Amino acid sequence: MSINKKEKYQIAVIGGGPGGYVAAIKAAQLGADVVLIEKDKIGGTCLNWGCIPTKALVRSAEVYTHLLEADNFGISAENISVEMPKVIKRKDKIVNRLVKGVEHLLKANEIEVIKAKAMLIDEHKIMLKQGEQQAEITADNIIVATGSQNSELNIPGISLSGVIDSKAALDLEELPESLVVVGGGVIGMEFAFIYANLGVKVTVLEFLDQLVPGVDEEVAKELDRSARRRKIKIKTEARVSEIKETDSGLQVNYIYKEKEKSVASEKVLIAVGRKPYHAELGLEKIGIATEERRGGILVNEKLQTKHDHIYAIGDVTDKILLAHVASHQGIVAANNIMGNEMKMDYSAVPGAIFTSPEIGTVGLSEKEAKAKNIDYQVGYFPFAASGKVMAMGEREGKVKLISRKDNDQLIGAALIGIHASDLIAELTLAVQQKLKVEELVETIHAHPTTSEVIYEAALDLKGGAIHYNGR
Ligand code: NAD
Repeated sequence: MSINKKEKYQIAVIGGGPGGYVAAIKAAQLGADVVLIEKDKIGGTCLNWGCIPTKALVRSAEVYTHLLEADNFGISAENISVEMPKVIKRKDKIVNRLVKGVEHLLKANEIEVIKAKAMLIDEHKIMLKQGEQQAEITADNIIVATGSQNSELNIPGISLSGVIDSKAALDLEELPESLVVVGGGVIGMEFAFIYANLGVKVTVLEFLDQLVPGVDEEVAKELDRSARRRKIKIKTEARVSEIKETDSGLQVNYIYKEKEKSVASEKVLIAVGRKPYHAELGLEKIGIATEERRGGILVNEKLQTKHDHIYAIGDVTDKILLAHVASHQGIVAANNIMGNEMKMDYSAVPGAIFTSPEIGTVGLSEKEAKAKNIDYQVGYFPFAASGKVMAMGEREGKVKLISRKDNDQLIGAALIGIHASDLIAELTLAVQQKLKVEELVETIHAHPTTSEVIYEAALDLKGGAIHYNGR
C-alpha cells in the first residue's frame, strides 16, 4: 500500500500540532484540497506532551491539595494519598481522547493525513518517508508547522539517569522525594507547583533575577511569594554548572553571586527554554532563510517565507511560542493562501500560566510601557477583597491594569489569582479592540464572580475601587 492517496495537492501542511492541524482544517473549510503530514502524533507537543497533559496533572494536584484542606470547608476526609499510576492513566486517557477527536475532525473535513517524515525536495516537491517506504508528492502551497524542541543545557552530568526533561516529567510513576527544577520559566514553574502540591520537596534554580521572565515584575514577585508559601525553594541568579551523582542521589552545583553552592535532589528537571525545530526538512536546499541565533524561519506579516507559496507558522517561526499563537497563525496562513488577505498582529496575545494561583497576561507590562515612553497609570485590585474568591476559600493574588493617561486606553493587564487564565479573555478583547477603561467600567460584571476583580481594578483607575480602599 502506498503512503499517499494522490500525487498532487493544493496545500500540504507539514506538522500536525495546534498550528498545522488548525491551518489544515481552516483551509479545508475554505474549500482547499489539503494533505497533512505528521511524523509522530497528531496534536503535536501541545496535545501530547505540553498544554493538555500538564493541565491534567495540575488538576490532580489541585484535587489532592483541596482534600488535604477539606477540614477548612467543614468536610472530613481521611487516608488521602496520591496514586501516581492512576494520575498518569487519567492524563493519558484525556490526551488520547483529544487526539482521537482531532483525527476525527481532520477526517470530517476530508483532509488526507499521512503519517510520515516530510523533506522538501524543491519548492513544490515533498519526499515522504515512513519506515522503509518512500513517496513523493507535489503541492501548490506548503505550510511548514514543525514546532519546537527543548533547548539543551551543556553542562557535565546532564545525561545522568534521574535528570529528566518536561516529557519525562509527565510520566513519573513514583513521586520522587525531592526535585530540582533548572529554569524558573513557564514550564519549570508549572511543574514546580504540580510536584510541590503533590508533596515533593521542590527547589527552582533560575538564571535571571526574576521568575517567569517577561511577565510583569510585580506579578512575578507575587508568584515567588506563592511558591515560597507552598515551601518551594526559589533561587534566582543561580547559574547551574554541573550535576553529579552521589551515594544518596544527585547533586546540582550552581554559582550564586560568584560563590559555588549546591543542592541535593532525587530528580532534576531541565526546563531552560525551547527552540524552533526543522531538522532534516531541507529548508537550506530551497533557500528559505532562518534567523541566525535560534533558527526561527523568517516570515512576513502574511507568514510567507521568501517563496510566496511557502508559509511557516507556529513555534518554528520563533515569534511567540504559544499554542494559541500557532493556531491563529494557521488561520492567517490558510486565509492568505485562499485569497483572503490577513496579517498577523501580536499586540494582544494573551498568556496563561498554570501555577497555583494561575497567571494571565496581555498587552504591555509596566516595564514595556516605560520603555516605550508611554505616559501611563496603573490600577490594582487584590483577589482577597472579592466575596466570591473568599467563598471559594482562596485569597492570593492581584489584578494590575495599565492604561494610557492621554486617552484612557487599556494597554496592558497582568493578573495572578484564581481563574486568571480565564479572566484574561475579557482583557484580551479590551486590549485588542483598544477599549477605554471607561468602557470596562460601563460594563456590568456579574456578582458574585471572579470577573468583578477586573471591574474593580478598572474602577481603581477611575477614582477608586468600591470594595477596597487599601492603596
Ligand atoms: P522559558 O523561556 O519560559 O523559561 C526558561 C527559563 O530557564 C528562563 O527563565 C531562563 O532564564 C532559564 N534558564 C536558562 N538557562 C538556565 C540555566 N543554565 N540555569 C538556570 N536557568 C536557566 O522556557 P520554558 O519554560 O522551557 O518554556 C518553553 C516555551 O514553551 C516558552 O516559550 C513558553 O512560552 C512555552 N510554554 C508556555 C506555557 C504556557 O503558556 N502555559 C506552558 C509551557 C510552555
